[in-house]
Amino acid sequence: MTPGNTTTGTAALGASRRRRTKIVATLGPATDDPDVLERLIRAGTDVVRINFSHGSAQEWARRVRATRETAARVGRYVGVIGDLQGPKIRVESFRAGTVMLTAGRAFVLDTEMDPAAGDERSVGVAYRRLPDEVGAGDVLLLDDGQIVLEVDEVRDSRVHCRVARGGRLSNRKGLNKQGGGLSARALTAKDHADIETAAALELDFIAVSFARNAADINEARKLLRAAGGEAYVIAKIERAEAVENIRSIIDASDVIMVARGDLSVEVGYASMTSLQKGLIREARARDKVSITATQMLESMIGSASPTRAEVSDVANAVMDGTDAVMLSAETAIGQYPVEAVATMANVCAGAEKHETAGGGPSHHDDDPFRYVDEAIAMAAMYTANHLNVKAIVALTESGSTALWMSRVRSDIPIYAFTRHEFTRRRVTLYRGVYPVSFDLEHMDPAHVHRAVFAALLRDGAARPGDLVLLTRGETEGVAGGTNTMQIVTVPEV
Ligand code: PGA
Ligand code: MN
Repeated sequence: MTPGNTTTGTAALGASRRRRTKIVATLGPATDDPDVLERLIRAGTDVVRINFSHGSAQEWARRVRATRETAARVGRYVGVIGDLQGPKIRVESFRAGTVMLTAGRAFVLDTEMDPAAGDERSVGVAYRRLPDEVGAGDVLLLDDGQIVLEVDEVRDSRVHCRVARGGRLSNRKGLNKQGGGLSARALTAKDHADIETAAALELDFIAVSFARNAADINEARKLLRAAGGEAYVIAKIERAEAVENIRSIIDASDVIMVARGDLSVEVGYASMTSLQKGLIREARARDKVSITATQMLESMIGSASPTRAEVSDVANAVMDGTDAVMLSAETAIGQYPVEAVATMANVCAGAEKHETAGGGPSHHDDDPFRYVDEAIAMAAMYTANHLNVKAIVALTESGSTALWMSRVRSDIPIYAFTRHEFTRRRVTLYRGVYPVSFDLEHMDPAHVHRAVFAALLRDGAARPGDLVLLTRGETEGVAGGTNTMQIVTVPEV
């Protein structure tokens, strides 16, 4: 029995108050040094993201292996997300590698021209349907909205635009349509191959980029299962269409990512903050997990400390109730990856102190419960929030009891005790849930409590005399079998 992320370190805040919000760090060249990776994990990384838009399958495999070996060495569990590239629409290349676009001038996007022959007047676009999906008056955004084009007219393969906001444009920059409406399929041929790689690497999560609807998520899950992968599916909300279909997308997926980079471009950044709040709330209300992503500590790519605005942004996401906050370039290619994680851990812990803790309303006050284990989870949280309980222990197979528990606001830590490595690695993403390795299978039922207490004491999660709330199934080893809640006092040793 080894405690998981319950080991003390910079990630933990001592027995009384642990950081609840989880940290996702994107791996990249800046984290390849084994020493940096170890410090990154010790500083509080709960989950790593591997961005399939860059690098090769061999490189991803090497990073997954390094993460798992390092996590095991420091006594932690770290989940791994494989993030599919998806159908990001891009301009092709320029003869000179880059061009300067001047406001007021004409510029043509052409799906038929030589992809290497772009210049100040026109550039190729590989996405063939572009001329059918845009029309006069549409606004197109290049390079995450740095450059703005207005469509004048469409003639055959050529989309004639006027530059509304100019700037320097280089090869293969992204292209979005304001308000959404570019309907490229979510899963490309490359994504199909990468899903197989994700299955072979036994990744814990797979993220679907530019998902439009539930069907895109279902398709990804089907391909993954066919390849033997068990990963949970993350829907990246980064298209206007995804926002319109948000309920069915949330129901089809296990996790949503508020992918603010592309989403801001499509919906306009002024709508972003309230949209973020709504998405996080909706995910939680539907018993699903959320990640808030992109530019959270952007200035730390080149600076050892964050701006005040960034601190406020991370804190705001914590107060919105996000399960996890994510670092992208800050850790993948930044100069201060470890400092970025440590900063995030610090800001999250600070923001959580000011949260309305305890006794908060349950997520579905008015809805009937659908499952017995769900009912037990809700009863446990109601009780724990109204009784001075030190720790909640969910003896769990799939982790679903811990997931339900963590949908209810509380400041009491929830320990997911499980024999399944896979369950331990995925609860790393759930707010306020900490994995612990615990195998009931060959344990004398009379010894279960003693073993639970021993694990809690060793970890500093509880002391003699503390009340602990325990949930379990009468028939152990059955997923969905939780039907019992017990309140026990940790005995004097
Ligand atoms: P990306 O997704 O980093 O893969 O682009 C996140 C976002 O768009 O915010
Ligand atoms: Mn994106």
